[in-house]
Amino acid sequence: MATKDRAVVLGGSVAGLLAVRALASSYREVVLVERDPLPVGTSTTPRTGVPHGRHAHGLLVGGLRAIETLLPGATADLAEAGVPAGDMCGAIRLYADGHPLRQGTIGELGLAVSRPFLESYVRTRVLDTANLKVIDGCDVAGLDSVDGAVTGARIHRRSVGAGEETVAADLVVDATGRGSRTPRWLGELGYASPVEERLEVNLSYTTRKFKMAPDGLGGNHTVIVAPSVTNPRGGVLQVVEQGRAVATVFGILGDAAPGDLDGFLAFAKTLRAPEFDGILRAAEPIDEPATFRFPASVRRRYERLDRFPAGLLVIGDAICSFNPQYAQGMSVSAMEAATLLRMAPDGVTAPAFFRAVAPIIDVPWQIVTGSDLAHPGVQGERTGAIRFVNAYLRRLQAAARRDATLTEAFARVLNLIAAPRSLMRPDLAVRVLVRGRAAR
Ligand SMILES: Cc1cc2nc3c(=O)[nH]c(=O)nc-3n(C[C@H](O)[C@H](O)[C@H](O)COP(=O)(O)OP(=O)(O)OC[C@H]3O[C@@H](n4cnc5c(N)ncnc54)[C@H](O)[C@@H]3O)c2cc1C
Repeated sequence: MATKDRAVVLGGSVAGLLAVRALASSYREVVLVERDPLPVGTSTTPRTGVPHGRHAHGLLVGGLRAIETLLPGATADLAEAGVPAGDMCGAIRLYADGHPLRQGTIGELGLAVSRPFLESYVRTRVLDTANLKVIDGCDVAGLDSVDGAVTGARIHRRSVGAGEETVAADLVVDATGRGSRTPRWLGELGYASPVEERLEVNLSYTTRKFKMAPDGLGGNHTVIVAPSVTNPRGGVLQVVEQGRAVATVFGILGDAAPGDLDGFLAFAKTLRAPEFDGILRAAEPIDEPATFRFPASVRRRYERLDRFPAGLLVIGDAICSFNPQYAQGMSVSAMEAATLLRMAPDGVTAPAFFRAVAPIIDVPWQIVTGSDLAHPGVQGERTGAIRFVNAYLRRLQAAARRDATLTEAFARVLNLIAAPRSLMRPDLAVRVLVRGRAAR
């Protein structure tokens, strides 16, 4: 039952849309402010405000579960709309450290859905909310405050001659993504900014789209080539809805694939996965290439601040933006929004929310930073634990080439439904030690 008057959500991408859904039953009105004009209906076209939408996006099991909590029936709807679906371990071919891991089944459905199509599905469901007001084509200019508490957002419509307006609110949620200005706004309100942890990777994504038969990947919907210490290039090839394939290849530390078809295919040939380049050569290119530079993973430690203004929350990439090759950002955003859904009826406060989402972020952050530090050129502190885990994982991946039980355990961790320490279970450790040694 709605007990509070109005919440304003800034940013209408995955985190913002799901935050709207989380708040809708606890506020009489929710206002969504988005810079782009929001498209109506399902769409496979990326928005200007989400340039990363042109690149392959994996949705993890942890994220899909959270989306189901917020939007019941989403998985079935998407599968019915033609999104390829299959077991998260059985329909995805994963090359890790050059090894094709033996596929298994984890009993969890994985969807191969393009980012614009997924966002448009979420948007269509969320825009159906009766007490939602959308202000799109509108920039957020800043926060309104009284005595250090946030009381609304200042907005600027993009129409000619429009002046600044204020939308009063009991709660403002910043979901404007990685470029969030909350750290700066906090300073203007007399609060400290959060400590920002960064791990520079200087990652370059290049993506091309192809026309491909649904069985173009031999019964799989996705092929993933994880970068390794000996070859830090990687790629993702996904057959998504409408018989299209999205192929993204990437390099780190300044290495980048060219966009032209020949250069792109030549880069794909250098990946440690024999089928990647062959499949692409047999497919029909259908779009212009897209590139994206991602300098660093960034985590803002809001949970460590002593003081934070009442009436303000931050969610999604605005809190933590992960190296995208691990496909975690949308899932973590959805898990945070599911937490907001649980907390909103009792009146969510920023310290309680940041404390609740910090453990959700801890695991993917540990996976990203630990794995990136395996590359000698990435600068950062390599603790004994990181070195040990990376050595253990290399051995696990070698063993998983012939051992589906290990692939399944690894997939559960990567999908954020099992803790990394589960890989150290005695029965798995024995397999890793015995089979990993034999396989190397
Ligand atoms: C290249 C790349 C690949 C990725 N691949 C994956 C993947 O495989 N799997 C995965 O889960 N995640 C992936 N991610 C991350 C994922 O895209 C994000 O985590 C996800 O979109 C959630 O982000 P968000 O909603 O917090 O912010 P964003 O998606 O960045 O959206 C921010 C929104 O706020 C709006 N906005 C910004 N500033 C203003 C303003 N001043 N006024 C009004 N509106 C504003 C923007 O227009 C936009 O709509 C990838 C990211 C990148 C960069």
